Amino acid sequence: MLTNNLGYPRIGSNRELKKACEQFWAGKSTLQNLVQVGRDIRQQNWELQKGQGIDLIPSNDFSFYDQVLDLSLTVGAIPKRYHQVILNPANSELDLYFAMARGYQKDDLDITAMEMTKWFDTNYHYIVPEFTRDQQFKLFSTKILDEYNESKRLGIKTKPVIIGPVTYLLLGKEKESGFERIDLIKNLLPVYLELLKKLEEQHVEWVQFDEPFLSLDLTEKDKAAFKYVYTEIKRAFPKLKTLLTTYFEALKDNTELALSLPVHALHIDLVRNPEQLESMLTAIPTSLKLSLGVVDGRNIWKNDFRASLKLIALAKEKLGANRLLISPSCSLIHSPCDLDLETNDAVLTPEIKQWLSFAKQKVEELVTLKKLAENDPEALPKLELNIQAQENRKTSALIHNPAVKQRVAGITKKDEHRSQPYALRSVAQKAALKLPFFPTTTIGSFPQTPEVRSWRAKYKKGLLSQQEYDALIAEETKETILFQEKTGIDVLVHGEFERNDMVEYFGEQLAGFAFSKNGWVQSYGSRCVKPPIIYGDVYRPEPMTVKWSAYAQSLTEKWVKGMLTGPVTILQWSFVRNDQPRSETCTQIALAIRDEVVDLERAGIKIIQIDEPAIREGLPLRKADWQDYLQWAVRAFRISASGVENETQIHTHMCYSEFNDIIQNIADMDADVITIECSRSQMELLDAFADFKYPNEIGPGVYDIHSPRVPSKEEMVFLLEKARAVIPAAQLWVNPDCGLKTRHWEETKKALIEMVAAAKVLREYV
Ligand code: GLN
Ligand code: ZN
Repeated sequence: MLTNNLGYPRIGSNRELKKACEQFWAGKSTLQNLVQVGRDIRQQNWELQKGQGIDLIPSNDFSFYDQVLDLSLTVGAIPKRYHQVILNPANSELDLYFAMARGYQKDDLDITAMEMTKWFDTNYHYIVPEFTRDQQFKLFSTKILDEYNESKRLGIKTKPVIIGPVTYLLLGKEKESGFERIDLIKNLLPVYLELLKKLEEQHVEWVQFDEPFLSLDLTEKDKAAFKYVYTEIKRAFPKLKTLLTTYFEALKDNTELALSLPVHALHIDLVRNPEQLESMLTAIPTSLKLSLGVVDGRNIWKNDFRASLKLIALAKEKLGANRLLISPSCSLIHSPCDLDLETNDAVLTPEIKQWLSFAKQKVEELVTLKKLAENDPEALPKLELNIQAQENRKTSALIHNPAVKQRVAGITKKDEHRSQPYALRSVAQKAALKLPFFPTTTIGSFPQTPEVRSWRAKYKKGLLSQQEYDALIAEETKETILFQEKTGIDVLVHGEFERNDMVEYFGEQLAGFAFSKNGWVQSYGSRCVKPPIIYGDVYRPEPMTVKWSAYAQSLTEKWVKGMLTGPVTILQWSFVRNDQPRSETCTQIALAIRDEVVDLERAGIKIIQIDEPAIREGLPLRKADWQDYLQWAVRAFRISASGVENETQIHTHMCYSEFNDIIQNIADMDADVITIECSRSQMELLDAFADFKYPNEIGPGVYDIHSPRVPSKEEMVFLLEKARAVIPAAQLWVNPDCGLKTRHWEETKKALIEMVAAAKVLREYV
């Protein structure tokens, strides 16, 4: 039996890599310095895993930005626009690499970055490979080889990790028409073979091929590509120990295909789907080894040893110990680094801490599981402790709140519905709110200047008292209200100055949430997030936003829109309990938000926005599972929104507008108004709403807030005209794409003045 790790976090336990990259980009440190920080992190990671006793330690799991971009460079998939960067002899390979990741503005060149998108259903973002019809590949970077040799020099023989060729192609995008990227497999494979040859010359024993697409919906062509690739690799390197990894989903209908591939070992995700083990064991060919992904690589819970040992025992009985690998479900880059760094009991209490495990602890769990599976008596005390922690978690009063469970069980159909349908509500709202045609509004946040952030930092450090801090926030809010009034915006917002983050702000006030001090996880490049930990039944002890919304409303005769984060988004951007279904946790959050909505209404707030930017990204990886998810996600939103009178207008906001697949579900949310992103697509994305004849009101973003550019009135009129051609005027709102938090005041002011002017033009000929 071997212990096997699929990947270790590379940001460093104190985000050393983030800091080093940002220093380097700002021109404040040298390339050598950055390279050294990378080397140190790799060494620490390898030595840590070796010290713990991991048998198969990964290399090439390190990356300065993103592992998919690393591979694009390795196989020479470098879009033409960067060729000038290569030609400049002053540029290193790393300069080229960062140019692809972040764009390049130097020596009269202005080259855009490559696109970024979510890595499967995680919050990690990768750089999307770009392919052309005549795409050629060649071995361009030897990073994999270099890192393997680097580990060897340290006396640690590692297992290089490489994204498999099929997954690599499927992760990319065709940049021109007339071909399918999977057809490039014949061109791509020779580079892999060349690379493997070099690795073989260095006496590599194991190579890990990550092929998460193998557990997703596949076309016949994709399946054929899998067969082709792994047959060829086997033919060329009959002795190489290939580990084919799948994760984030069960193999399901691809089981037969996966088991037929001539690889040395196959990895399956038993956290996402433990049930697949049995079918796997009955069908597995006698030569194949199985890697059991039993330790959750994506969540922060301590492994349940007894449950894992059951799975391991089952596999051992059928296959024998020497055909088994004990592994995390996926790479640990989705876990924070080290629970031992959480030393502040006031932040993370010892009771909660005993239920948790971060990457370093997960590595230890793998080793302990192996010892336990091999009946090593020395490991028994660890099993005892583990059982105690699991038992404590099952029964802890911190987690289980009968009142919350009862309330969830008591939700009725009526709680999921506004009292009248939209057609009637709309009449009531028009009478109550008296808004003009093409009402103008914003999405919620106004610029979070360094000053505003410094107040919060000082307040958190105790350098500002609650009163002092509140007074500063109140002043900023007031100025923002006055600015919006003066500009002629119809529905105002308070500006969200009191919030650090749209999930954290609510998590900090809800029961059932905990926060780590150092639980950072890479989101993209040097960016990290620190998701809240939902450990227990969620409820809202006190109103969360009423004070600031009511204060803002007291400053003006116009309507101020209340601003909340929706249940699905709070769920999606947190570490979530694994002791009950996600839907259950989501419903609890929905009730907490519902309480807030009702309190806002009671405090005189008649327009309330419940942001749900994460609904779409929560979609399961397999289409067959979509409707189940959408059913509970939409229900949760409706529960949160349905406690108010007909006259009260509920808005929602989503930061994208590719709704073709889910437009019916969006309509089922039944928000009175939805604001979406549209400006970058020139309103084309609005077509889904038009084709569907979306019945409620829509605010298609007319101003791209991701750029400092100030759009002109004319541009926005043009966009609104396009919107009006497909959506009835009475249904349209005028607003930016998203919150203005990342913008500067100067451009924000100018842009909003233009936006109001654009709305006025439209009103003239209603
Ligand atoms: N109300 C939030 C804001 O304006 C919405 C942000 C989001 O959708 N990501 O910042
Ligand atoms: Zn948004």
